[in-house]
Amino acid sequence: MDHRKLFVFSAPSGSGKTTIVKHLLHNTDLPLSFSISATSRAPRGEEIHGKDYYFLSVEDFKNKIEKDEFLEFEEVYIDNFYGTLKSEVERIWDEGKAVLFDIDVIGGLNIMKLFPNETLGIFVKPPNKEELEKRLRGRGTESEDKIIMRLAKADEEMSKATFFDAIITNDKLEIAKEEAYQLVKKFLQQ
Ligand code: 5GP
Repeated sequence: MDHRKLFVFSAPSGSGKTTIVKHLLHNTDLPLSFSISATSRAPRGEEIHGKDYYFLSVEDFKNKIEKDEFLEFEEVYIDNFYGTLKSEVERIWDEGKAVLFDIDVIGGLNIMKLFPNETLGIFVKPPNKEELEKRLRGRGTESEDKIIMRLAKADEEMSKATFFDAIITNDKLEIAKEEAYQLVKKFLQQ
């Protein structure tokens, strides 16, 4: 078993992928570590710098782009940059663990392209659009215009689901968590 593997969880915002990712990290025996992305968006709720994200200013983010420090990055929403630092993958592999990504669809596809043999790409689908909207509003952390922005992007992201190695429909959370666990476990054993 080689631990130098990557697991990409991608989904429209609000599909529940972060809950599934947290489950894999904290409630299972899997040797995984979270790839902490850098972002220029402001922290939300109880998010912590260096745990949930590396929160950077737009300027610092752009500096790192210039220095070629990212494996992939994107301006997911206007002036909201998100990216994976090259140093994250090395840090986690050096710890003897596999890397778990919670990133957007384009970023996920880019990682799959960069590491075609080492990556398992998993797309988490919300059961339907109404449910997605309900979850986004239920979070209560975003303004109306941000919710509309995320819903518009969700349509585009859903159309890319078939490019992933596996699709999990997050209808019943407990079942989705178990499916994710089994997929990761199997790929780790290969
Ligand atoms: P949020 O603001 O809800 O934390 O994230 C917004 C979107 O950016 C989500 O789809 C999230 O998965 C994505 N994202 C987070 N980190 C990265 C990253 O490192 N690269 C890319 N491309 N997208 C990311």
